[in-house]
Amino acid sequence: MIRDSLFSPDFSSARRARTGVLVAEDNPMFRRILQSWLEEWGYQVTIAEAGEAAWRALNSAQPPQLAILDWMMPEIDGVELCRRIRARKSPAYQYILMLTARDNQRDRVLGFEAGADDYLTKPFDRDELRARLRVGKRILALQEDLIRAREGLRYQATHDVLTGTFNRGAILGELRRALDRAKRTGGAAGLLLLDLDHFKLVNDRHGHLAGDAVLLQAARRVLGALRTYDFLGRYGGEEFLAVLPDCDGGAAARAAERIRAAVADSPIAIPDDGAIAVSVSIGGVAAGEGCWTETALLAAADSALYEAKEQGRNRVVMAQALALP
Ligand code: GH3
Ligand code: MG
Ligand code: MG
Ligand code: MG
Repeated sequence: MIRDSLFSPDFSSARRARTGVLVAEDNPMFRRILQSWLEEWGYQVTIAEAGEAAWRALNSAQPPQLAILDWMMPEIDGVELCRRIRARKSPAYQYILMLTARDNQRDRVLGFEAGADDYLTKPFDRDELRARLRVGKRILALQEDLIRAREGLRYQATHDVLTGTFNRGAILGELRRALDRAKRTGGAAGLLLLDLDHFKLVNDRHGHLAGDAVLLQAARRVLGALRTYDFLGRYGGEEFLAVLPDCDGGAAARAAERIRAAVADSPIAIPDDGAIAVSVSIGGVAAGEGCWTETALLAAADSALYEAKEQGRNRVVMAQALALP
């Protein structure tokens, strides 16, 4: 559906105008040098003089994507910070450059094993630091592309292209979740099966493209009549399934009536083709007492929908749900 939580994290931070860098360093001289160079190179710099402040900065709402961590610092040292960053489940990768006077091989290995991406020993060269930070930015950009691609695929796999509502698999997943929750908490859940009336006529009279436009607008009207925490998915051609968490039979019937009225409210305008009157028939059922299976509920809603069509369309019929053992 359009209002969903699948797609909410903001992964655009690595492409912000200025890349954020945390400098965690207890030595004032190194701190000053790093700050002035980094600002000169266009980074947005956050300074921490000790481990606790660094950890807070790394966990802020808009955390820096790059971190330059001193090894030896009061409170939490750089290696421990690395471990904590990597142990945390964060959607956005943070690139860590360890900066330290410790330059033996064993220390370097320890730093990498704690989760550092790169390592630079003091005193460090200005050009080398700048080049190494560019490597970090390159890795972060790749990471961001991957996350975007993955989120795009996830969206495509769960949404209907035409209406932007959930697709059949995803809405059935929401139905299962709502039923599981209702069973666990002793609550309720409603489901509504919607089918546009005489939709074949719309296609026959106005063409398939106009039919598509009507489907999209009808879906928008249905969404507008739902609560923000309800779910809508395209169940089949011109059939939709609405899942209404925490709704008993009465509330589901009222929601169905709101939807019916919203769809039939006024003819849907079609570019260059006037306006098309549409209506929807709805079969609804509520789970909540006893044990309810997804298939039994869908079958009950389907029978109710059939009944609504039989009774003349543009109406709601609520099924008497069957309690199963
Ligand atoms: P009823 O009131 O009994 O539901 O009549 P109906 O004409 O809506 O029912 P029927 O199931 O016979 O026809 C459904 C029509 O919906 C047929 C099909 O071409 C059309 N349809 C299904 N999916 C789409 C789509 O994505 N776009 C368009 N334009 N039409 C679609
Ligand atoms: Mg130090
Ligand atoms: Mg149909
Ligand atoms: Mg139909």
